[in-house]
Amino acid sequence: MMNKVINGKVDFEQIKHLLSLQDREEISNLFAIARETRDTHIGNKVYLRGLIEYSNHCSKNCYYCGIRAGNKNAFRYEVNDNEVLEAAKFACENRYGSIVLQSGERSDKKFIAHISELIQKIHDATNNSLRITLSCGEQSEEVYRTWYELGAQRYLLRIEASNPGLYKKLHPDNKNHSYERRLEALKTLINIGYQTGTGVMIGLPFQTLDDLANDLIFIRNCGVVMIGMGPYIEHAETPLFKYRDELLPPEKRVELSLKMIAILRLLRPSINIASTTALQTLDPMGREKGLRAGANVIMPNITPVQYKKNYDLYEGKPCLNDEPSDCGSCIEKRIEMAGCEVAYGDWGDSKAYHRAGI
Ligand code: SAM
Ligand code: SF4
Repeated sequence: MMNKVINGKVDFEQIKHLLSLQDREEISNLFAIARETRDTHIGNKVYLRGLIEYSNHCSKNCYYCGIRAGNKNAFRYEVNDNEVLEAAKFACENRYGSIVLQSGERSDKKFIAHISELIQKIHDATNNSLRITLSCGEQSEEVYRTWYELGAQRYLLRIEASNPGLYKKLHPDNKNHSYERRLEALKTLINIGYQTGTGVMIGLPFQTLDDLANDLIFIRNCGVVMIGMGPYIEHAETPLFKYRDELLPPEKRVELSLKMIAILRLLRPSINIASTTALQTLDPMGREKGLRAGANVIMPNITPVQYKKNYDLYEGKPCLNDEPSDCGSCIEKRIEMAGCEVAYGDWGDSKAYHRAGI
């Protein structure tokens, strides 16, 4: 079975089989093969992306997310321009190579113009030395083009769940939360030329192993070159919280997420796969485990510390009181513990972007 996988001949049934492995030794073998595959195709260097949680204002109401518009208890904020620029300079000085500007979704003109301005200001303040990734949700083709032309080279837009039926259970039934629109947005980003990323949540209520196997096939085939996927984590002020007793226990959600990373590495050896904060939230060693399962990207949080607690997507987010400089040294140690090296000063473009889909 493992040999077949290495030869890239993995199909739906084989993916499902790997996702359902329970034997410790077989699971460690899967992770070891994923690591070897990564090291052979792209090496053991880990790229750093400084994550700026720019704002938690959001016009949407995804049922799983703590900063959804309907959560009246969320304290809303927007990081000011100077603070964004300081964070970008910090990333530059610490040779992170790239930053991610992430926020709730807004499509009003003021927000769009502000992001445009920030892209330019960040490039000016850092002498164009950083790659900028945006993660600001669904926008029109025109907006995506404008941001791309201003110098945002990458965009992250998770499909969340590739099964339209499951997607519907996770979102309100209206045109603002349409699966088709999200898929269209993903295709638009790829067509424009962004290094495009997507991903799913793992261990969601109603989700089956078939769904996850199909998520991996979707990711393999949809033309993205970056992936951020991690465990779903409950939040008390969201509609999905009522299903909390039906979820897999945290350690099983972590294990399933690691298997997803490992299998994806076998399916797409050269893409960039992030070891996410959600993994670290459910397991203090979650991000190292992600690297050991074949991931190659870490996103140190460089949001100014006073805002971090309010970017409250789910419960138990770690390192809320850590300054960006604390994160930097901690992450280097963690990456080394996972047998990898930090790729300082490297933009870390996805090799798959240049190798046409491998
Ligand atoms: N608003 C943009 C969007 O939705 O694409 C970007 C920011 S959004 C907070 C980033 C990601 O957070 C989402 O794509 C979703 O997968 C993840 N997320 C939200 N709530 C979560 C939860 N309860 N557990 C795990 N991940 C969650
Ligand atoms: Fe808003 Fe994104 Fe959260 Fe959905 S996942 S509520 S779009 S921030």
